[in-house]
Amino acid sequence: MADRQDNTLEERILKLKKEKNAVILAHNYQRGEVQDIADFGGDSLELSQIAARTDADIIVFCGVHFMAETASILSPNKTVLLPDAHAGCPMADMINAEQLRQKKKELPDATVVTYINSTAEVKAESDYCCTSANGVKVVAQIDNEEVLFVPDQYLGKFIMAKTGKKMTLWPGYCPTHADMTPEDIIKCKKEYPAAKVVVHPECRPEVIALADEALSTSGIIRYASREDVSELIVGTEVGIIHRLKKENPGKKFIPVSEKAICYNMKYITLDKVLRSLETMTPEVKVPEEIRVKARAAVDRMLAIV
Ligand code: SF4
Repeated sequence: MADRQDNTLEERILKLKKEKNAVILAHNYQRGEVQDIADFGGDSLELSQIAARTDADIIVFCGVHFMAETASILSPNKTVLLPDAHAGCPMADMINAEQLRQKKKELPDATVVTYINSTAEVKAESDYCCTSANGVKVVAQIDNEEVLFVPDQYLGKFIMAKTGKKMTLWPGYCPTHADMTPEDIIKCKKEYPAAKVVVHPECRPEVIALADEALSTSGIIRYASREDVSELIVGTEVGIIHRLKKENPGKKFIPVSEKAICYNMKYITLDKVLRSLETMTPEVKVPEEIRVKARAAVDRMLAIV
């Protein structure tokens, strides 16, 4: 239960949010108390789409930098605040626009598909964006034998296995998901033999091979609500367990690894949310030239799914 001081902090945030006509969005990997104060929780695309639809003037994005950028891409007339400017994504930073331009020169006929976990300038160099939820669908409809997929090699491998399509993969990865091992799953299964296993497609193929399903965070949340699921071993960032427990009282959720923590996601605290609303910083704004190109790649994805 939150203590008195936290309550005061929460009240101040809610008051300021109302005064400034702001909306607070929190990714499923955020700290529990940040998820609890948010107007909406979800994955990065869901949250950006919500942000684009609301009539709020200000979006406080409790997530990492590329997510705030995506909100800015979709909502250019709104002020997008990221309560800690240092909250980045190590995977998104594994490729920059110049590196992608070089790779495109090597593969001039390739269609470039970019995971939404990427910077705006990389999206701007891409033909399509995709998410972990719709990557298979996006790639399956591409009428080109040559596809370059960036930046997550493991999501790329998962999509290749599902579509049978060969792609050139950029060697990026999410350190939080790539650290999970088959041994972690085997250990959990021994302890909870009746539990189902779901993992995120950012995990390594040998981890995915041991799961009942590989799903996006929104897919995991839907799966957990199924009537036939009472115990679930969950292979993604541990922050999601907070929401799973809250929405499914009485069910048991077991993280594949307690060490699966994205520290960048945890940079956002209630104090920083309050300070951000008070100072209207740090703001994330994608320059218009990049925004328009990145938006085109996102729109091509949205036209498919
Ligand atoms: S969990 Fe992985 S992909 Fe998601 S923000 Fe953290 S490092 Fe990036």
